Amino acid sequence: RQLRTDFGERRLQVWFQPQVDLVSESVVGMEALLRWPSKDGGYISPAVFVPLAEYSGLIIKIGEWVLEESCRKLKELNELGHTNLRVAVNISMPQFRDPDFVNFVKQAVQRFGIAPQHLELEITESVVMDEPQIVVEALTELKAFGVKIAIDDFGTGFSSMSYLQKLPLDRLKVDRAFVNEVQPGQSAFIAETIVTLGNKLGLQTIAEGVEKREQASYMLKLGCDEAQGYLYAKPMPFDELLAFLPDKSS
Ligand code: C2E
Ligand code: MG
Ligand code: MG
Repeated sequence: RQLRTDFGERRLQVWFQPQVDLVSESVVGMEALLRWPSKDGGYISPAVFVPLAEYSGLIIKIGEWVLEESCRKLKELNELGHTNLRVAVNISMPQFRDPDFVNFVKQAVQRFGIAPQHLELEITESVVMDEPQIVVEALTELKAFGVKIAIDDFGTGFSSMSYLQKLPLDRLKVDRAFVNEVQPGQSAFIAETIVTLGNKLGLQTIAEGVEKREQASYMLKLGCDEAQGYLYAKPMPFDELLAFLPDKSS
């Protein structure tokens, strides 16, 4: 009930975490992440409240808002000269069940005048497994429209490999758990296997949760394309993101 009230009173926030190219380390995009301020001045984790919002159906409205907010901020970045960044938005299963979902995404892109290829939708393996037919159809239509598709937390669900070929994917996100296995003097076979799999399927790969320099260099050596993690930047409010990005005003 509190989530519903706070969402209605516009108290939820969308933060952004930069994603970087592993070779140049320049920012190539950012992931939009929900933040719910709590009374004690902290934040309730989306890992806690997103499942509640999914269960109650509220995620459909919240998800629409995150999508709009992400497109609005990307437009703002475009106007400030950051014309080649993409924004990644997490999508839940109930959103795919919403018959207006595909049109909502297309209209948001058009309304804000952003390039469709600068919007990326992140879905987890569990979403795909839940109702593959609905998800494959929606994503195929959005992909034809130009939007990019990433599989989030790859390797943590029990993905059926056959869906990797049925889905119109652009990117695999190597789950933080496997990146975290990269420790000095140790190999990280699962991370390596996922990057190889991605490469063989012609997909881009991004390492999640990169916290240490040696993890970044290991992933780069494996042929991973991009990274996201505290080593580069934590999720931050939009104003901080603007300050974080290189100045394009001159
Ligand atoms: P996710 O999509 O896998 O997002 C990445 C999570 O990893 C974020 O947690 C981020 O803050 C965290 N992270 C990034 N780099 C590091 C690192 O170097 N070390 C560590 N320890 N963590 C790192 P966050 O923001 O708490 O979000 C948790 C999950 O909540 C997200 O996981 C996503 O599944 C869900 N979520 C967040 N925003 C949305 C949303 O707008 N819609 C939906 N449906 N789900 C969302
Ligand atoms: Mg994500
Ligand atoms: Mg993830």
